[in-house]
Amino acid sequence: MIAPGKILKEVLAHIFKKPATENYPANPSPMAEGFRGKLNFFSEKCIGCKMCMRDCPANAITIRQVGEKKFECEVDLSKCISCAQCVDVCPKKALEITKEFELAQLDRKKLVVVFPYDESKAPKPEPPKQDAPKTESPKPEGPKA
Ligand code: SF4
Ligand code: SF4
Repeated sequence: MIAPGKILKEVLAHIFKKPATENYPANPSPMAEGFRGKLNFFSEKCIGCKMCMRDCPANAITIRQVGEKKFECEVDLSKCISCAQCVDVCPKKALEITKEFELAQLDRKKLVVVFPYDESKAPKPEPPKQDAPKTESPKPEGPKA
């Protein structure tokens, strides 16, 4: 049996020590560099090539056309293994992997995330080109007398 005096000494020693645990979720630790969490999609950059779909080993990502040159993205987080293959293969950098990791859900359907086409970020149409100002062509000189 441990002597009560020894226990008391141990308790007093720990009162002024910094706790070994993190105060989660109140003060979560920053995630390490390179951590792979939830995907993010930038609809304004996507060209609908679907290379991300072809490369995904888990069949977790779907790109759908929703208008002319407009695409939305659906990710099934219950399948996604956060490998970032889709991010690496995207030629337009329309996908990124974030550090968001608090994704647990009781309802599996809630793990299907749709990133709709964002009209507010759509590229602005180029203004019509103005015709170059007309310059008068020099009059041909008449025959010299
Ligand atoms: S690879 Fe990139 S540009 Fe191509 S469909 Fe996927 S997200 Fe869009
Ligand atoms: S991170 Fe990997 S598993 Fe998840 S959607 Fe992209 S390619 Fe598929």
